[in-house]
Amino acid sequence: MDVLEIIEKKKDNKELTYSEIEYLIKNYVEGIIPDYQMSAFLMSVCLKGMTKKETYYLTDVFLNSGDKLDLSFVDKIKIDKHSTGAVGDKTTLVVGPIVAAAGIPVLKMSGRSLGHTGGTIDKLESIAGFNVNLTNEEFINQSKDIGIVITSQTGNLVPADKKTYALRDVSGTTSSIPLIASSIMSKKLASGADKIVLDVKVGKGAFIKTIEEARELSKLMVDIGNNANKETICCLTNANYPLGYTVGNALEVLEAIDTLNCKGEKRFLELCLSLSSLMISLGKQISLEKSKLIAVEMLNSKKALEKLKELIKSQNGDINNIKTSKFTRVINSNKEGYINSIDPLKISKIVFEMGAGRLKKEDKIDLTVGIKFNKVIGDYINNGECIATIYYNPDKDVDNNEISEAFIIGEKQIEDNIIVDIIK
Ligand code: URA
Repeated sequence: MDVLEIIEKKKDNKELTYSEIEYLIKNYVEGIIPDYQMSAFLMSVCLKGMTKKETYYLTDVFLNSGDKLDLSFVDKIKIDKHSTGAVGDKTTLVVGPIVAAAGIPVLKMSGRSLGHTGGTIDKLESIAGFNVNLTNEEFINQSKDIGIVITSQTGNLVPADKKTYALRDVSGTTSSIPLIASSIMSKKLASGADKIVLDVKVGKGAFIKTIEEARELSKLMVDIGNNANKETICCLTNANYPLGYTVGNALEVLEAIDTLNCKGEKRFLELCLSLSSLMISLGKQISLEKSKLIAVEMLNSKKALEKLKELIKSQNGDINNIKTSKFTRVINSNKEGYINSIDPLKISKIVFEMGAGRLKKEDKIDLTVGIKFNKVIGDYINNGECIATIYYNPDKDVDNNEISEAFIIGEKQIEDNIIVDIIK
């Protein structure tokens, strides 16, 4: 087999075989095929696309490039939930406990994320003492004891995607639907769950900007999951504004606790209940209506809050010791009217400048800083009233005007739905 022939074949829009895709990826991972040839191949895929069959093949080759988690020690249907990423996304910390309280195992190995704020593992680390590095034995024991565990990823899951994704990032080849679908789904298929719920973010703050693209990606991911015998549902959700009322690691954990204490922001709560209902319905094989009632009951009875407390205690965390920066400053509005929009990209850039995110895996992040909104979309604000509070490090302070500019205030009240579509 010859790599040039494979690139030419893709360029000529001909369907590749399994062995051609396998040859290409294996040799790329082993360093035999250089970056420049792989970039040419990826660019051909961006321009010519991939058939469904080719996308299944690529997903399978990615999946088989490394370890796969084996969760068969828990004898129940296991559901994984994954978000494609949004500003202020702390849903796992609310959805996980709701679903686990309903009796569905939530066994998650998460990575640390790069970007403007941390991932779930970083957020959990803002709880003093929380152990994110469980041994395999601890992972198994906690899963059996309390039905929920969230720890850092061990093992080498999907190394072929890791290497290819890094190259896509620097070769202008990130925005291809088959490449995104195989990248996400290979990791989800390796996670050991029986069924998958994907929170596909769409809008200004997400890498998918239009509903059409989000639908196309979702349909493809659902097909890949079903083809691998793992029922998959995509929930398309609005990422035109930050999620909830906080952005920043410790602040987001505190918001998750408030949400489980029935003091959540309404759109964020709706999203958490929708995702929880989808997971409960898959896990218990019951209707979405019945699942929603269960999710609401887990929330209102505080059983989900108790489950989060169990999780934190079991991983040695102290729920009463979640530190936010002692340096706070109130930002007042210089306009009055309804909050029409909060720019997620501006907010994430500000929070990144404050030290809450990282560009490289080794970078240390400040878990104590961030922004807490006093008003969200649809709320009315008076001139001079507090619109947000920042928790900052004086060495990395930000300009008040920068924050004010992220808010668009208008005369008319705008209502914006968080759930855009569900694709199964
Ligand atoms: N997330 C992934 O894991 N892969 C992509 O290609 C895009 C987002």
